[in-house]
Amino acid sequence: MTTDRAFVIVGASLAGAKAAETLRTEGFVGRIVLIGDEAVRPYERPPLSKDYLRGEKGFDSAAVHDEGFYDANAIELRTSTVVTALDTDRSEVMLSSGERIRYDQLLLATGTSPRRLSTPGAALSGVHYLRQLVDADALRQVLTASRRVVVIGAGWIGSEVAASARQLGAEVTMIDPGSVPLERVLGPEVGAVYRDLHAEHGVEMHFGVAIDSIRGTTAVEEVRLTNGTVLPAEVVVVGIGVTPRIELAQAAGLAIENGIAVDGHLATSAPSVYAAGDVANAFHPLYGTRVRLEHWSAALNQGPTAAMNMLGEPTVYDKVPYFFSDQYDLGMEYRGWAPVWDEVVFRGDPATRQFIAFWLRDSRVVAAMNANTWDAGDALEALIRTRLPVDHARLIDPDVDLASLAVPSAS
Ligand code: NAP
Repeated sequence: MTTDRAFVIVGASLAGAKAAETLRTEGFVGRIVLIGDEAVRPYERPPLSKDYLRGEKGFDSAAVHDEGFYDANAIELRTSTVVTALDTDRSEVMLSSGERIRYDQLLLATGTSPRRLSTPGAALSGVHYLRQLVDADALRQVLTASRRVVVIGAGWIGSEVAASARQLGAEVTMIDPGSVPLERVLGPEVGAVYRDLHAEHGVEMHFGVAIDSIRGTTAVEEVRLTNGTVLPAEVVVVGIGVTPRIELAQAAGLAIENGIAVDGHLATSAPSVYAAGDVANAFHPLYGTRVRLEHWSAALNQGPTAAMNMLGEPTVYDKVPYFFSDQYDLGMEYRGWAPVWDEVVFRGDPATRQFIAFWLRDSRVVAAMNANTWDAGDALEALIRTRLPVDHARLIDPDVDLASLAVPSAS
């Protein structure tokens, strides 16, 4: 392998950092440039709505690598650096400084950015979004005891921030157009578990309603709902979803389809350009279609997969989608991908908050969530991967070994 080759990674994120690490561990001796617009070295985002937000853990525990890792591995980490354009004809990226960097292989791990609220008053001081470390730092300053916090959106950011804010003693109200928290992914049955959990911890919830306006003279004072309800507020946290950061790729003429369109090898439509993490809409062999996963695990694992392909080792990304969430004393892991399902069944009583939920489609398990129970992960993954039809009665029977359902029966 020659040493004059240059691999450039745009996005000093979890995906970008894991790709850089893999390039070195796989023996690449050329130049690696890892470029990010944030001021700090790459970190993982899950703690930003959980223990980091609550001040229980510091930055080092969220960082992907130790501070010395990048120098030690001759990875040129460029923080606070903005890539303004990508020239695929000349194989170069352009920086806001005017510098051009030539690449032999390029990885785009540009992530997503929070969807902005467009209602009147959305630009008032006191309205927060949570995506980056600086957002979590700013939010931590204001989530103090007795503060009145209105959380807009009961998705993953909303529900985890609501839990953290309650744990910090703030008074929390959560608003969502759905009927329960996390409804789009979990559905009404499992969403109800989270509704009850938040209610038990003193979160006031308004469902099936939208925001009319946010009002205040210079800073937030109240949130008005479309049903006329007025909620006093000193802090508003908006978690209404994200949009993939496709601007660079789009301007360079790469195929775009709900993110940067990539094949099973994470290759974009441009030669020697890959994409990974939540910006990448990747063909998934398990599903026979493209799936854009906004999960920590996709960033963690797609970075290394892209790196292998950049090194000329054809590698397909086919992992079963996975994410986790911790809210109060309820921890869970979710595996699979279930844009639609026929029914949800439970092994264990959801009211006890120790259970496994299964999302079924045509009698096959398309997704599973283990809540406060931790020994079934491998069996759940096998059930989803094998896609065998399952017997409902055996699926929900705690005395039946789950692993036995993931192998074809002898009969
Ligand atoms: P999200 O999980 O997609 O949830 C957004 C929520 O906001 C949905 O309930 C959505 O309802 C609702 N919503 C949409 N427009 C709204 C509006 N105008 N007013 C009020 N509510 C509105 O997105 P997120 O919570 O913002 O999270 C951002 C990203 O971070 C996601 O990719 C998420 O997966 C990721 N994340 C993951 C975790 C985890 O895995 N534990 C934790 C934190 C963040 P509809 O569904 O009806 O549109």
